[in-house]
Amino acid sequence: MPSRKFADGEIVRGRWPGSSLYYEVEVLSQDSKSHLYTVKYKDGTELELKESDIKPLTSFRQRKSGSSSSSPSRRRGSRSRSRSRSPGRPPKSTRRSASQHAEIKDKKDILEINLTPLKQSANSISRYNGEPDRIERNDISHRNIQDKSYLSQESSYLATQYSLRPRKEEIKFEELISKEERNLVAPKSIRTFEMTATEPEDLEFGGGFGAFSIMIGLPVMLFMLLLMCRQEDPSLVNLPPPLPPLTDLWETRVFGICLLWFFLQALFHLLPIGRVVEGTPLCSGRRLKYRLNGFYAFILTSVVIGTSLYWGIELYYVYEHFLQFAIAATVFSVALSIYLYVRSLKASKDELSPGKSGNVIYDFFIGRELNPRIGHFDLKYFCELRPGLIGWVVINLIMLLAEMKVQHRETPSLAMILVNSFQLLYVLDALWNEEALLTTMDIIHDGFGFMLAFGDLVWVPFVYSLQAFYLVSHPYEVSWLFASIIIVLKLSGYTVFRCANSQKNAFRKNPNDPNLAHLKIIHTSSGKNLLVSGWWGFVRHPNYLGDLIMALSWSLPCGFNHILPYIYVIYFTILLIHREARDEHQCKKKYGLAWEKYCQRVPYRIFPYIY
Ligand code: NDP
Repeated sequence: MPSRKFADGEIVRGRWPGSSLYYEVEVLSQDSKSHLYTVKYKDGTELELKESDIKPLTSFRQRKSGSSSSSPSRRRGSRSRSRSRSPGRPPKSTRRSASQHAEIKDKKDILEINLTPLKQSANSISRYNGEPDRIERNDISHRNIQDKSYLSQESSYLATQYSLRPRKEEIKFEELISKEERNLVAPKSIRTFEMTATEPEDLEFGGGFGAFSIMIGLPVMLFMLLLMCRQEDPSLVNLPPPLPPLTDLWETRVFGICLLWFFLQALFHLLPIGRVVEGTPLCSGRRLKYRLNGFYAFILTSVVIGTSLYWGIELYYVYEHFLQFAIAATVFSVALSIYLYVRSLKASKDELSPGKSGNVIYDFFIGRELNPRIGHFDLKYFCELRPGLIGWVVINLIMLLAEMKVQHRETPSLAMILVNSFQLLYVLDALWNEEALLTTMDIIHDGFGFMLAFGDLVWVPFVYSLQAFYLVSHPYEVSWLFASIIIVLKLSGYTVFRCANSQKNAFRKNPNDPNLAHLKIIHTSSGKNLLVSGWWGFVRHPNYLGDLIMALSWSLPCGFNHILPYIYVIYFTILLIHREARDEHQCKKKYGLAWEKYCQRVPYRIFPYIY
């Protein structure tokens, strides 16, 4: 019987499976049959390692000083270059030894995982051991399907070699792996199709019927809300509001102004100012480029609006024809949706969204093509933040001016100032953090169809500005005390919203960011990891919570006379409940067991009893 090299309780270095890096571990025991050592990492993770994968601390230190730098992965053209610029790059002393290369090569050098050693930076200390180096991990998550299949092969290889999970999770994990393997046997084209098609039972929004109802219901609801806002007493008992004559609903001039607005924003977007960044990888492995100039577009728009006011252009016209503007924008969004659907029929499978189904009505609603582009002009990305979002604050400003005119005021009311400044902050925040849009569900998952076209171009500017529209004809005097409470509420909501979003974005951008060193994470088999402490360890989707608090603070300045100004909070709560459910479902699919682990670690959610 071979003697044991390492005693129980001994502190040694254990090689992280699939990598060449060693982490400090404690030997717990050795299995007398398999001779595998059970070791424990600093965060409590237990693995079983072969004796050859364990080194005494002293031998590790000796090797550090004398290791060679002949990593084949480092010698690869541009990838090498990009790594050499990486602050997360391991120092020379931790480079792989020749024998380690041989081991990796045996596994066809599948992963090139390069883990951050425990002592290398504070960033990795509090993390689960085996946290991959930033660049390497980004490479993994950003590779194409072919690479993903290697990753899964590697996962299954590891699963047979090491016990990576607590034993009770082992069976579940094996099921997951065998499911992944089944996907791998299919040819790439079939796999791609399987990954992108949504099964009928998985259709969201109630499938084709639900989508059809929403497409009819939302515009009707919008017009009802706008008509109600014009009523002197917009109480529910006064429903339905009187309908205007049909001839009053359409004005070609208004439609022309809408077109002008859209193309002006498109022109601003096309200006060669602002950084160009890459989006997240598509399923083909390709990464699209996006120009970040939303904030510049806002400044240019402010100049245009300021100049119009200086020249005495009567912006009150927009207030007077608000319903016609909403109808014109709706017509435009429907026309755009038809164009998007028709052009998507010619799109290749790689260009389609994972949400499309084959049901014409559903696909028209949810959108078939993921990133429809005319040349470099990305239609979805453009519509998400520009015409609608900037349009919203311009409408708010117009309502502020209209309030002064209608109520014969020399200055706007405190309520109007609060609503305007709160929502301006929200829009400026979105434009300032424009890059964060690239990791949202809208960009990554949803196609571009009626849902986003109507949402971005009609719902946002005309429903989100409802409080300001309401205040024009329903004045409400807010006391300074109440205003202070509302401001505190808004700032608290904003803090939660901004900190949570920034923390996740910073982590996705650079998992080794020193500012995130204190955070704990869970590894997932996709190569991306999940935050389990900080804002994302406090509650799942903390950003939604902050957003919801802010939504309430936008309505409170309108007082408590009618429900109308609270429509946004009600709608937004429903939207976020649904959105959270969608995201939970998608994350479960994406991360499998790791997501379940995350849910165990962070059991709190913002809508705990809803679904
Ligand atoms: P999120 O920004 O919350 O993105 C969800 C994604 O975050 C998940 O799919 C997952 O993607 C990642 N994620 C989830 N949990 C974790 C974790 N623990 N650690 C790391 N990553 C995690 O959602 P949305 O795109 O829906 O929203 C973005 C913002 O926009 C929110 O603040 C929301 O409130 C706001 N919003 C506002 C709307 C409005 O009308 N005012 C409408 C919709 C959204 P992955 O792992 O792939 O990165």
